[in-house]
Amino acid sequence: MADRSDPFLDSLRGAVGASHVVTDAAALAPHLIDWRKRYTGEARALVKPGTTEEVAAVVRLCAEAEVPIVPQGGHTGLVGGGVPLKDGRAVILATARLNRVRDLDAANNTITVEAGCILQSIQAAAEDADRLFPLSLAAEGTCQIGGNLATNAGGINVLRYGNAREQVLGLEVVLPDGQVWDGLRRLRKDNTGYDLKQLFIGAEGTLGIITAAVLKLYPRPLETATAFAAVRDVPAALSVMARLQEATAQALVSFEILPQRGLDFAVKHVEGAQKPIAEPYEWYILTEAAGGHGDGGLKQALESALMAAYEAGEVLDAVPAENAGQARAFWFLREAVVEAQRHEGGSIKHDIAVPVSQVPAFLDEALAKVEEMIPGARPVPFGHLGDGNLHFNVTEPEGANTAAFLARWEEMNAAIHDIVHRFGGSISAEHGVGQLKRTEIPRFKAPLELEMMRAVKRTFDPKGLMNPGKVIDP
Ligand SMILES: Cc1cc2nc3c(=O)[nH]c(=O)nc-3n(C[C@H](O)[C@H](O)[C@H](O)COP(=O)(O)OP(=O)(O)OC[C@H]3O[C@@H](n4cnc5c(N)ncnc54)[C@H](O)[C@@H]3O)c2cc1C
Repeated sequence: MADRSDPFLDSLRGAVGASHVVTDAAALAPHLIDWRKRYTGEARALVKPGTTEEVAAVVRLCAEAEVPIVPQGGHTGLVGGGVPLKDGRAVILATARLNRVRDLDAANNTITVEAGCILQSIQAAAEDADRLFPLSLAAEGTCQIGGNLATNAGGINVLRYGNAREQVLGLEVVLPDGQVWDGLRRLRKDNTGYDLKQLFIGAEGTLGIITAAVLKLYPRPLETATAFAAVRDVPAALSVMARLQEATAQALVSFEILPQRGLDFAVKHVEGAQKPIAEPYEWYILTEAAGGHGDGGLKQALESALMAAYEAGEVLDAVPAENAGQARAFWFLREAVVEAQRHEGGSIKHDIAVPVSQVPAFLDEALAKVEEMIPGARPVPFGHLGDGNLHFNVTEPEGANTAAFLARWEEMNAAIHDIVHRFGGSISAEHGVGQLKRTEIPRFKAPLELEMMRAVKRTFDPKGLMNPGKVIDP
């Protein structure tokens, strides 16, 4: 094989073992295309180090040879951040073999994990110790904690516990020159200067490779109460959220909004998805509270608040989950809304956030804009209303030409992002920038902010070798 005589690849083989340097085209192929199949790239090799020292050795070799590195975790990212560029110069550094739990300190409520640990396995390890690790998203069976931190993932429990960023006490990072920063502190308080770990969280692999992290654990809630409800409109949904927060003593962990169209798509295309409320309404919420005393009081509080909201005309119908199975069915329906959209043709995506109070006005404007731009287009705005984060997705009009519809992706993004900006929002609430939003970001950040970002990038990665073409150029 030609690459057998490539001295650079041989040096990588020397660092991690020949079987952990993949150059076979068929084995490489899935690593060269993103989850949504929007981005494709090329790479010299996929390298799979098994320890932090091996990561450092690979990074040093790449730095010496000036070879770009693309970190890859579970490869579920939605913005093309983990896909190499088309020039084929980069190596992909996969973290899958860095998958050990290094420590679990129940008394300190911390777990120390390597970057390649699958999110679900961390949740399970916490549960085994009678603790909760609250980060939760639909990709949790595949995504890795390194990827979650690199993208500052959000998910369904942000309302109560915050984003991935809020779960981190310490990090271990291999810097772009191959040095290892051991910042694995297990402290809740540490005011000794700049909080450097925050720079690497949400950096999408552009400043270094996260190899391990100390994460916060929480007490496991004694009780969980889940409900699905139809609401009068979006402002009513916000009033209901306020009522539920008050009634449950701030125990809400999730507050999701779903439109009728999303439910219709889900029931039509996803086996097992069922509507809890047969009668059609324009908007629904799915909410969950966790905490309580384990005596059913939380469920009672949730139900009485929903009843009060019903009497006030904010809730039109409500179904509290009677057991864990029914709660799971509600969440299954929520995830089915995501899956179902692809069966209805092209879908133009937006992952936006506005201040929670501004969501109704934002939706009014954005929905009107979509209809003005592409009459008959079918918006499916859904998501984490409690965080002001909507996946404002727009499905093509029935019978449309998919290619022609998708050709308007950037034009529609620009129009919706302009509205988001006017409401003081963010054009990437939880998925990151990657390749997808790299050229949009400069439209919305002040020159000073962009220059501070570039200065950080230049400081850590002066040669621009860490995940080039993503987030920001040096
Ligand atoms: C069905 C589905 C549902 C999703 N739901 C949500 C959701 O609710 N909330 C949400 O926030 N996201 C969601 N996502 C997006 C995605 O799952 C998250 O962004 C996730 O955090 C990515 O983790 P990963 O391990 O797959 O990372 P990858 O896709 O492998 O990588 C993502 C980025 O991080 C970089 N990276 C990966 N590992 C490291 C590392 N160790 N060090 C430095 N950089 C690294 C990569 O280079 C890339 O830029 C969803 C995705 C899917 C497919």
